[in-house]
Amino acid sequence: MSIILSDPYGWLDKALARIHRANWHRSVQTIHSRPGPAVVLKQQNVLNFASNDYLGLAADHRLAVAAIAAIQEFGTGSTGSRLLSGDRPLHRQLELAIADLKQTEDALVFSSGYLANLGTVAALVGARDLILSDQYNHSSLRSGATLSQATVINYAHSDMADLATKLEQHRDRYQRCLILSDSVFSMDGDLCPLPQILAIAEQFSCMVLIDEAHATGVLGPTGAGSVEHFGCTGPVIQVGTLSKALGSLGGYVAGSSTLIDFLRNRAPSWIYTTALSPADTAAALAAIAIVQAEPWLRSQLWHNVSYLKQQLSRLFDTFNSAGAVPKLLPSNSPIICLQMPSTDAVLQAGCDLQQAGIFVAAVRPPTVPTSRIRLSVMANHTAIDCQQLVTALTSLCS
Ligand SMILES: *Cc1c(COP(=O)(O)O)cnc(C)c1O
Repeated sequence: MSIILSDPYGWLDKALARIHRANWHRSVQTIHSRPGPAVVLKQQNVLNFASNDYLGLAADHRLAVAAIAAIQEFGTGSTGSRLLSGDRPLHRQLELAIADLKQTEDALVFSSGYLANLGTVAALVGARDLILSDQYNHSSLRSGATLSQATVINYAHSDMADLATKLEQHRDRYQRCLILSDSVFSMDGDLCPLPQILAIAEQFSCMVLIDEAHATGVLGPTGAGSVEHFGCTGPVIQVGTLSKALGSLGGYVAGSSTLIDFLRNRAPSWIYTTALSPADTAAALAAIAIVQAEPWLRSQLWHNVSYLKQQLSRLFDTFNSAGAVPKLLPSNSPIICLQMPSTDAVLQAGCDLQQAGIFVAAVRPPTVPTSRIRLSVMANHTAIDCQQLVTALTSLCS
């Protein structure tokens, strides 16, 4: 056998060239200011419709004060995993606050939402088990499913007939079964049919894990998320993040105390990683207190969402009646997406909007199946901010 002595890293250039050719190449855009409804991007003041900071808490001074106090008391790093030297009183306080918000027996905080999904899914099922996963689920749920070694079957997006059919066909050949779904889908903005998922899960004896990343602080009368929004009472495992409406960094799982105690013993991404930093923990704790004490933030957010949706559907009804794009995708959340015909078109629209002083996310495959402009609304956008967005989109379409 002959060995060809080629550069073992040479394939990287070719792979990158392929990414460029497909117009899939991505790079960062640096913000030079504090987060908020207006930010500084490339020395330009722009209105920010690209963040996940739905309640505007990432720049709230009360979170900063709490984080600074935590650094002064406990330092910058937590120095170890929770089970070794990393545990601080703030961690448990935060877990109890999450359990109180979610009305669950207990909760467990992870160093990110991604790690919470990885560790929880991998701990709940194994090689003899089955996962049914919505085709549009977040990357962290899909990676968790792979890590678990369970058999993974995707069902069509929010299609309950497909979910039931697939369970009928496959359920009895496996031991445990876990249904996975985002509650608010992160790149579409629509909401999973949670009551129906729970009914099907009961029928087929399945566990259910929903990802509340974009629902916590946003949906439900007290901001508890989609479970509260739908008034669901059945058992459901809730995973989420501290980094979106809660303006900090980290993730969590909320559920029964048995589940949480099990995860402390079996979730590798909780056991073998450094505990959440004191600053992040304290900021998230302050954010939950604000979410609970200031429901008007949520009212302002939803007021902005309905205003924008109304304006945009008026705008796009006119265009779409002529069969034109962009098309407004269905949404039940502050995430509003405009489907675009191609990667070129979405990149161009992103640039044009930026020139008009509006910062949006231009999302392309492979992140999503079809290119789209993703707008996310904040509680502290003003009516004028929203009008400027509508004006810019109007001139984009004409
Ligand atoms: C952002 C996000 C995550 C990951 O949360 P991080 O805390 O940012 O790691 C998980 N699931 C969904 C649906 C998300 O949108």
